[in-house]
Amino acid sequence: MRADRVAERLCERELDMLLVTHMTNVRWLSGFTGSNAVIVLGAEERLFITDFRYVEQAAAQVEGFDRLEGERSLLADAARRLRGRVGFEDAHVSVRTLKRLEELAEDAELVPAGDLLEELRAVKEPAELEAIRAAAALADDAAEAVVLSRGLAGRTEREVALELETEMRRLGAEGPSFPSIVAAGPHGALPHAEPRDVEIPAGTLVICDYGARLDGYCSDCTRTFASGPVEGEMVEVYELVLGAQEAALAAVRAGAGLQDVDAVARDRIAAAGHGERFGHSLGHGVGLDVHEEPRLSKQSEGELVAGNVVTVEPGVYLSGAFGVRIEDLVAVTEDGYESFSRLPKGLTVAGE
Ligand code: ZN
Ligand code: ZN
Repeated sequence: MRADRVAERLCERELDMLLVTHMTNVRWLSGFTGSNAVIVLGAEERLFITDFRYVEQAAAQVEGFDRLEGERSLLADAARRLRGRVGFEDAHVSVRTLKRLEELAEDAELVPAGDLLEELRAVKEPAELEAIRAAAALADDAAEAVVLSRGLAGRTEREVALELETEMRRLGAEGPSFPSIVAAGPHGALPHAEPRDVEIPAGTLVICDYGARLDGYCSDCTRTFASGPVEGEMVEVYELVLGAQEAALAAVRAGAGLQDVDAVARDRIAAAGHGERFGHSLGHGVGLDVHEEPRLSKQSEGELVAGNVVTVEPGVYLSGAFGVRIEDLVAVTEDGYESFSRLPKGLTVAGE
């Protein structure tokens, strides 16, 4: 049980209790999908507090905890139970909430817990891998129907993005896991471009970055399609990014340094003279959040472990001209990875 694994960590960190207030972490720990609840967790304590709106839902979803209906504010109800050294989620608790907590929990010493839960969440269980795999397959099906079979030229970026998201929902997704990016030509040179009401011209590159949410779990994938035949620099940069992406993928396995995997792609792109045009990190973990631990970046410390789910997404952005990004979502295994992204990666004219 996840709560037991957390309790072991508390021991190692010399914490008596953990106060969990961040809803994504509440969900991961308890299975509760509502929007208001607090968990108090200690060696012997498994307490789940929600308000009256969610009492029935919690009874159906939450096992292995004593369930309590909050009387006043959930924070005040939780604070009464806190004693000893109590970890709180400092990445998510506001300054105001912390002040209130300090007033309410007089007997407790509040200690920042850091990424304690996020580190555990970074290693997925088989059921979580299955959920992410299914979300990725669903999103790929949507992209196949909306982009690959129908083509891009002559439609607006917003139309394509909207249809992608509608199709994901139609196929059973709770929704997109983030606002879809459809960015043509020079607009694709902005890594986080918002889709515009602008028609996509023929013969340019179009970045499509999309993901679905299914059973709470996210997917994330990017393909850069051509909207008609392209040549010259567009083809060269595409091949460069694809080569860097595949080289980085080949370095993915349990034990690989997070920085080292990033460096594989970054060094290749730099060697081709485009180092300055790859300004973001290589990838990020994906799970209940679309951006979570671990990060594949220049600054990251640590190694990949089996069960991590990460994106590998180098990009090159030529200001005023076009951008290329290719992103796969993969599960790390002992000797490599399993890719959850299955759309072709060779330069493809959408609609042909
Ligand atoms: Zn993405
Ligand atoms: Zn991503």
